[in-house]
Amino acid sequence: MSYYRACLASLILLVPYCTNAHEENWAPREGCDLSRPHPGGLYPDAAAELANLGLSARITQALNTAKKAENVHGADKTINGILYTGAVDISIRCLKGEEDDQIKRILTALSANGFVAWYRKNGTDGWNGANHIHAVWVRQPLKPVLERQVESWLAFKNGLKSDKDYTFWKPTDDLLEKIKNYRADAF
Ligand SMILES: [Zn+2]
Repeated sequence: MSYYRACLASLILLVPYCTNAHEENWAPREGCDLSRPHPGGLYPDAAAELANLGLSARITQALNTAKKAENVHGADKTINGILYTGAVDISIRCLKGEEDDQIKRILTALSANGFVAWYRKNGTDGWNGANHIHAVWVRQPLKPVLERQVESWLAFKNGLKSDKDYTFWKPTDDLLEKIKNYRADAF
């Protein structure tokens, strides 16, 4: 059911659905504590957007200054001597309802609001490692490795070194257009 239909139905049935434009399902489930969030070094406007989407509690990593080839979370920009990045990891633990379905909703909401994002699922789409969502805020300057990720995402690829097709989820034309526009506005 579309949001608007569900919203209309809720008016008739007096179910409080209209109040939840952004999925409150993404708040940590009771009895399943997420570890303390680690939003340090994330571009402030990106952090504000994640708060708006109800995803702040799920941030597991933003800036990471480790000099390792596989680390794409290094600084993208220095503002007043402080390092910032547009890369952010989001926990998929403790989602309510059907997990893959909720993750696809999160990927959709992220890209509608300025992030390209992939679900990194161990053994799938070229990823081997912990399950999480990797997102990149496109509304600020990015370093070359993240620029390449944005290009990869726009081409339905996985944003990894292998640059293979990404099969878990695909952005709609509308979302592709939004990301291109957000990207253009960042310059
Ligand atoms: Zn990441």
